[in-house]
Amino acid sequence: MSKDHLSEGTKFYNDVLSFFDYAASFTKHPKGLLEQIKVCNSVYETNFPLRLDNGDYEVIRAWRVQHSHHKLPVKGGIRFAENVNADEVKALASLMTFKCALVNVPFGGAKGGVKINPKKYTDRQLETITRRYTTELVKKEMIGPSIDVPAPDYGTGPREMAWIADTYALLRPGINALGCVTGKPLSQHGIRGRKEATGRGVFFALREAVSVKEDMDKLGLSVGLEGKRVIVQGFGNVGYHAALFCQEGGATVVGISEYEGGVYDPNGLDIADLFKHRLETGSLLNYKNAKNITPSNSLLEFECDVLIPAALENQIHEGNAANIKAKIIVEGANGPVTADAEKILLAKNVLILPDFYANAGGVTVSYFEWLKNLSRVSFGKITKRYDLMENTRIIQAIESSTGVAVSADLRRLIEKGADENDLVNSGLEETMITAYHQIRETLVQHKDIQDLRTAAFVSSINKIGVAYIESGIFP
Ligand code: NAD
Repeated sequence: MSKDHLSEGTKFYNDVLSFFDYAASFTKHPKGLLEQIKVCNSVYETNFPLRLDNGDYEVIRAWRVQHSHHKLPVKGGIRFAENVNADEVKALASLMTFKCALVNVPFGGAKGGVKINPKKYTDRQLETITRRYTTELVKKEMIGPSIDVPAPDYGTGPREMAWIADTYALLRPGINALGCVTGKPLSQHGIRGRKEATGRGVFFALREAVSVKEDMDKLGLSVGLEGKRVIVQGFGNVGYHAALFCQEGGATVVGISEYEGGVYDPNGLDIADLFKHRLETGSLLNYKNAKNITPSNSLLEFECDVLIPAALENQIHEGNAANIKAKIIVEGANGPVTADAEKILLAKNVLILPDFYANAGGVTVSYFEWLKNLSRVSFGKITKRYDLMENTRIIQAIESSTGVAVSADLRRLIEKGADENDLVNSGLEETMITAYHQIRETLVQHKDIQDLRTAAFVSSINKIGVAYIESGIFP
């Protein structure tokens, strides 16, 4: 089959494998170990019936892929999408393994896919599909707090995660049952900051990248986010939050696209207001002074400094890569830049922050949620008041020794003990900053490596290789 005739999912998986192979050539691990790190450990396909309102049945096709059991549980989102297929889920599961290793979250990688367009089903049907999919996973022991812990992905959110948790807890009741899935609503033992986490992580990744003067000089850009023109593809969970945090961080978000078209305003869009506009009118289009852009994907080629693809894979390809104007691409989505496109972009000196780093905020905060579920205590609950009293005593000591009263604003800032939101966000920020410099260090150490994706893969492969060797599985 020619490359052009491969499904999008197969192209995506082939690209992940080729990125892996290229990076593996910079490591010293034996061939057999590299092969073990590369392959998917378990691939499960299930087909189950859905009874429609008119009495007919529809067969729903779904997958769960566990890419690597080198650490348990495995972890990765569940995608509801019309075009999802086995290879796409394999690609996504593989990226999860490298993502977790990169940001030091102690999970193997996994991913799930249900081949439906959620917009075509009623809420009740979606609930039936989600609960049945969960039941199929329970039957095969492919879900559980110490086995495999799903999370939201494209087309799913807290509501679906609540259905999964409830189904699992009914079938496998136990004290840890709610740790079987993350991204749950707050009232269902979720965690503050999870919904925003991936987009916030994208923002931290970009903020860190633009803070390195040496790298910005190479791109001809100033240091810092202030005034950088940003375009975002996809206004869902990741795209919306990434755009919002970039705007709050000083960037000018000049373009946003969705499937119905895009909007572009060189003076900047008001992200929260644009979100409201789409809710009210059902479309991004016709927003205030912004120009409507159709077809939607042409927005990717508009003038900007930073492009954040946050929709689906294979969006920047051989056909449009040469036209991309952005100097920095932050991959909010998984696999948005194909391997062919990457070659073109690197030759144009574009800095690409790879998906399995840039969108690692989601799994990082999911990890915190899982810990919270297993420990059954929210972060900050035990320490907040103690910290507040301790800080008050420190302020009193400073005031009595200096004779100067601390201002009310400063007092409030210093006294406040950290709550769950503060701790989750600071843990996420630390994770994204540390991982960025770890990737950069790998790049600096290996003179033959030219790009952040290869450096990130090398870093992850080395960590997984060491885990296999030290576990005694590989001598
Ligand atoms: P989502 O369903 O909330 O939003 C995706 C949005 O993209 C939808 O609104 C959809 O209409 C839009 N879209 C689809 N095709 C488009 C196109 N061609 N142009 C413009 N918009 C388009 O999904 P999400 O959770 O935001 O996930 C987006 C991407 O981020 C996926 O690749 C996913 O794997 C990745 N990701 C998500 C998370 C997470 O926590 N949700 C974590 C890591 C990675």
